[in-house]
Amino acid sequence: MKLAVIEGDGIGREVIPEAVKVLDAFGLEIEKVPMELGYARWERTGTAMSNEDLETIKGCDAVLFGAVTTVPDPNYKSVLLTIRKELDLYANVRPVKPLPGVVGVTGRSDFDFVIVRENTEGLYSGIEEIGHDLSWTKRVVTRKGSERISEYACKLAKKRKNKLTIVHKSNVLKSDKLFLDVCKQTAVAHGVEYTDMLVDSMAYSLMMHPEKYDVVVTTNLFGDILSDMCAALVGSLGLVPSANIGEKYAFFEPVHGSAPDIAGKGIANPLAAILCVKMLLEWIGREKEATIIDRAISHVLEKKIITPDLGGTSTTAEVGHQVAEYVKNSLK
Ligand code: ATP
Repeated sequence: MKLAVIEGDGIGREVIPEAVKVLDAFGLEIEKVPMELGYARWERTGTAMSNEDLETIKGCDAVLFGAVTTVPDPNYKSVLLTIRKELDLYANVRPVKPLPGVVGVTGRSDFDFVIVRENTEGLYSGIEEIGHDLSWTKRVVTRKGSERISEYACKLAKKRKNKLTIVHKSNVLKSDKLFLDVCKQTAVAHGVEYTDMLVDSMAYSLMMHPEKYDVVVTTNLFGDILSDMCAALVGSLGLVPSANIGEKYAFFEPVHGSAPDIAGKGIANPLAAILCVKMLLEWIGREKEATIIDRAISHVLEKKIITPDLGGTSTTAEVGHQVAEYVKNSLK
């Protein structure tokens, strides 16, 4: 297995080395391909990512990605969007699960669900026209796109509590009727128990009753908004990982960005990046190793080896080191 490692900018350069330290602690046969992409590279060379870089990425099986700073310069091509499109990473997967001793805005810790967001179409189709008096963006829903995302969500539900919630707004956006119908058909075909919710009611319900949900499947924009909102249930942006999955490739990145306000201070929380390694291990079928990461994270949280965003005084490197040590000791 070949893994492209892209630290990117800002705190990406601090958290990814810690995640790699944890991955290395397992001693698995994973060839790492370090790559420099992003804003710093653009400033230095005028390109954030070249075609050769893209080919190198396509020669790997998966990507571990930190964060890149994006700027509104029209010449700056988004690295993230390009990779997502080129690797056809159609499923954005975000687990929303509390960590021991950390509570989010609602103070609750009785939830464990996953948001599966369609990543290639919907309102992010890129088909739009910007004018002086009229601007529009086309919302695209295809049968194929809806089928593959609902297949992914149903297979995931089967491994979990077999419950699917289809989130849509088909009462107003008629294009969502296709998404809803296809998702229902897929759930029936897989024998998955399903229900559907309008996105506005769902936003409220996720805050009031997050314990009710198992796998949530939705379109691009709704998934984008709901998944960031749900990071608040968990407690810190520094704790939420995500995966972008395609037929062939997978791409793992923390939900947080490059956080220029704390970059270079050594205080960024590396746990989201370390949880990305857990998702990578699950993707390659290493369930046992993934569980060890969960235990290692519980260990540092219990011992209060935590960064300032969680009220601690530990550095990024201290947290990463302790998680990696726990992994090594578990394997003895
Ligand atoms: P970008 O422009 O790259 O998206 P940003 O600062 O706008 O960067 P985030 O990087 O997501 O967005 O950061 C939002 C806030 O959360 C910042 O105040 C940042 O310091 C904090 N934050 C983000 N990630 C972490 C982390 N891993 N550890 C601690 N604090 C974090």
